[in-house]
Amino acid sequence: MLPEIKTSLPGPKAKALIERDDRVISPSYTRCYPLVAAHAQGAIVEDLDGNRFLDFAAGIAVVSTGHCHPQVVQSIQDQAAKLIHMSGTDFYYANMVDLAEKLAAMVPGDVPRRVYFGNSGTEAVEAAIKLARYATGRPQFLAFRGAFHGRTMGSLALTGSRSVQKNGFFPLVPGVQHVPYAYCYRCPFGKTPEGCAVECVKHIESEVFRTTLPPDEVAAIFVEPVQGEGGYVVPPKKFFGELRVLADKYGILLAVDEVQSGMGRTGKMFASEHFGLVPDIVTLAKGIASGMPLGVMVARAELMTWPPGAHASTFGGNPVSVEAALTTIRLLEQDLVENAAAVGAHMIDRMREWPKRFPHVGDVRGLGLMIGVEFVKDQATKERDGALRDRVIDECFHRGLLLLGAGPNTLRICPPLIITKEQAEFAIDTIAECLEA
Ligand code: PLP
Repeated sequence: MLPEIKTSLPGPKAKALIERDDRVISPSYTRCYPLVAAHAQGAIVEDLDGNRFLDFAAGIAVVSTGHCHPQVVQSIQDQAAKLIHMSGTDFYYANMVDLAEKLAAMVPGDVPRRVYFGNSGTEAVEAAIKLARYATGRPQFLAFRGAFHGRTMGSLALTGSRSVQKNGFFPLVPGVQHVPYAYCYRCPFGKTPEGCAVECVKHIESEVFRTTLPPDEVAAIFVEPVQGEGGYVVPPKKFFGELRVLADKYGILLAVDEVQSGMGRTGKMFASEHFGLVPDIVTLAKGIASGMPLGVMVARAELMTWPPGAHASTFGGNPVSVEAALTTIRLLEQDLVENAAAVGAHMIDRMREWPKRFPHVGDVRGLGLMIGVEFVKDQATKERDGALRDRVIDECFHRGLLLLGAGPNTLRICPPLIITKEQAEFAIDTIAECLEA
C-alpha cells in the first residue's frame, strides 16, 4: 500500500488536536511536522483526517515488525488477559526467563550472560553505567562526540550530540569524557579512508590517557556501533577492532549501545555483528518489542555480581512487553532481519550515486535499514545544510512520506523492517523528487 493525501496538511481534525496539544503537553518535545496519528498498520499510518502516510520513521526506529503486526497484537492481547503485571523484581514469571535466556544466547560472543530489564533505552543505559562502576570499582567513563545514550542524568552525561539536551541541567553524573568518533566523512583527524590509521582510537591512549584520564580509573567505554541521533554514522570495522584491543589492555569494559542499531535494523540482529564486535555489556530497547516499552541490559555473567537491591525497576520486564518482545524476535528471526538486509542493500545501491546527482548531498551511508543522507551547502567545503534537510523532510511529509532528521544535517531513513521493495522505491523516488524540486 502507498500513501494518499486527501486534505491540506494538517487537516482540520489534526489542526484542532494540535491546538489542544499546544496548551497542555510539555514543550520539550521536538515535533518536526504536524502528523496526528489515528491508526496504523504495517508501514502505513493514517491520520485523523484520513490521510495515509508511508512511515519511514517507524516511531523513531521502534516498530521493527511494522505497526500493529497481527501476531504481536495477538500476543499482547493473550498476555494481557493472563497476567499484566507482577513485578519481576520481587516475584517470578515464566516469559521473563524465556526472554532472558533467548537474549543471553543471541548477543554476540560465546560467553555466559545475564539480563536486566527496564522500560526504555535510557534505563538500560543507566543500568549499564551502574553495573560498570560496580563491577570494576572504577568511577570514570569514555563516550563519543555525537553519541546519544538518553536523557536521564547518567545517560545524559554520556550523550554528546546536541548541547540543547544538556543546557540548564548541570551538574550531570560526573566522570565522563568525550572523544572523537570514527566519523570518516568528517574525519576529526583530517585523514582520508585510505590514510586512516584509526587515529580516533590511538588518540585515546596517546593523548587522553597520557594527559587527563588515567586508564585505571575508567570503568567503561560507551559506544554505539552505528551512531544514531548523531547522524547515522557508520565507522570502519578496524575502529572496533582497535577499541577492543585498547579496552582489554587496560581492563576497561566495552558497553555497546544497540538501543537504535539492534534488533535487526542493520540487516543483522545486532550491528556489532558487522564489525566482529563482542561487547561486555549491551543495551537494547526501541525495536525489541515492536513499540511496547522495554529496555534491556545484557552483560557478561561474571560482571553481574551486584547483590539483591542494588538495582531494579517496578515495571521492568513487564509480562506484556516481554511477550511482545518474544513475538518480535520470532518474526525478526523468521525473515525480517533478512528483509532489512535485502531491501536496505537495494536502497543504498540506488542512493549511492546521489552525491554525483545532487550537489547538496554530501554523503549516503548506512547498514540495512539504518540509512543516513547528509546534506551540505557545498560538497567541497562540506558546510552543513540543516535547513535544506529540514525542507526535504517537510516536503516529503506533504507527499505522504514520514521521515526524521538525525544530527544537524542528516536525513534519517529507518522504516519498519517489513517494508517491500515497492515501498522502498516510492521513498527513494519521493526524496529524489524533493531534491530535484
Ligand atoms: N541509546 C540510543 C543509541 C538511542 O538512540 C536512544 C534513543 O534514541 C537511547 C539510548 C535512549 O532511549 P529512550 O528514548 O528509550 O530512553
